[in-house]
Amino acid sequence: MDTPITTRSLFGPGPTNPYPEATVALGYPLLGHLDPLFIERIDHTCDGLREVWGTENARTLPLSGTGSAGMEAAFVNMVEPGDVVVIAVNGLFGERMCDVASRCGAEVVRVDHEYGQPVDPQRVADAHPNPTIIAAVHAETSTGVRSDIAALGELKGDALLLVDAVTSIGGLELRADDWGIDIGYAGTQKCLGVAPGLAPFTISDRAFERRIEHPRSWYLDLGMLGGYVGAASGSKRAYHHTAPVGMIASLEAALDRIHAEGLENVWARHAAAGEALQSGLQEHGYELFAAEGHRLPSLTTVKVPDGVDSAAVRGYLLDTLNIEIGAGVGAYADSVWRIGLMGPNATPASVTTLLAALDEAVAATSKR
Ligand code: PLP
Repeated sequence: MDTPITTRSLFGPGPTNPYPEATVALGYPLLGHLDPLFIERIDHTCDGLREVWGTENARTLPLSGTGSAGMEAAFVNMVEPGDVVVIAVNGLFGERMCDVASRCGAEVVRVDHEYGQPVDPQRVADAHPNPTIIAAVHAETSTGVRSDIAALGELKGDALLLVDAVTSIGGLELRADDWGIDIGYAGTQKCLGVAPGLAPFTISDRAFERRIEHPRSWYLDLGMLGGYVGAASGSKRAYHHTAPVGMIASLEAALDRIHAEGLENVWARHAAAGEALQSGLQEHGYELFAAEGHRLPSLTTVKVPDGVDSAAVRGYLLDTLNIEIGAGVGAYADSVWRIGLMGPNATPASVTTLLAALDEAVAATSKR
C-alpha cells in the first residue's frame, strides 16, 4: 500500500466539501438563540422540514439530539406502561425501537422479518387486534431495505403509525400526510447531508392529542417543546432549552439547498445514483444483499465476496483513497458492506469513483 493520504478533515474531502475553513468558523461564537433573527431562522427551518416530511403538521421541528433522540421522543411521549406497541423488525433500528418501547413499559409485539427483506404490512397489521402504536423503519440502514409505509398506513386502523425516516428524509420519496404517518423522526447526517445532532420530528394533531401529559422525559416532552418552536405549533414561544444554533443553521442551509434543487429532483438524483451503483456492482461481479425491488438508493448492501477480507478492503479504501464504506451489522458484520450515497454525494461521479475504488481495494488486499 502507498503512503496513506492525510487530506481528510472534519469537512471531508473533495468537491462536496469545498470549505474546510468552515472548521474555523465553527470555533467562533454564534448568534444567540433568543435573537429575533435566529427565531426567524428556526421558523424557516421548520417550514423546510414540513416540505421534506411531506406534511402540514404544525408540530414539525428539529429536536436537539441525534436520530435516536427522535426515536426516544416518539415512544416516551406516546407509550404508557402496558400499551401494546407492534414493531416491525427487519434490522438493527427496528430492534432498537423494541428496546426503547419496552423501556417505556410497552407490551412489545415484535414482528420479525429476515434481514434483507422489507416489512410485510399485512403481517404487521395482523399481529395484534388493537395496538396503541404500529412502528416501522422506512429505510433500514443496517440492511439497505426500503419498506412500504403507505401500505402500513392503509392498514393501521385506529393505531398511530410511528415511522423512522432517518435514512429516507431528503433523499427518498416521503409523504407523511398521504401515507398516514402520525409520528415521525429522522436525522440530519444522512440524505440531508449536514451536521449530525438534530432529529427532524413531526407529529400529527391526532397523535398529539393522544400523547402522555407528563412523559418521563422532561427534555423530550413534546407538550413543552411546542413553545420552543413557538407560533408555528400554535404555542406562545417560550424558553425551553438553548437551541443548538450552529446545527440548526446547518440544517437550514441543507433544506434551502434541497428546496432550490427541487425535492423531487433530489429524490430522482438519489434514485439514479443508487440504481447506477447497484447495477454497476453487479456488472463488476458483486452480489447485492437487500431483496430486489426493495433496495434503498441511499444505502446499498453488498455481499463481501468469498475469500475477501472485509476489514482490509474498508481500511484500504479509507487510508489510500479517502473513501469510507461501512461494515455490515450484527450477524452480517464481516459478510456485508454498506455503501452510502447520500445528499450531495449521490452523484454519477461518486458511483464511478466507488466502483473503480472497490475493485482496486479488493485486488490490492487480495494480493497480500
Ligand atoms: N434509525 C436509523 C434507520 C438509522 O440509520 C440511525 C442511525 O444511523 C438511527 C435510527 C439512529 O440515529 P443516530 O445515530 O443519529 O442517533
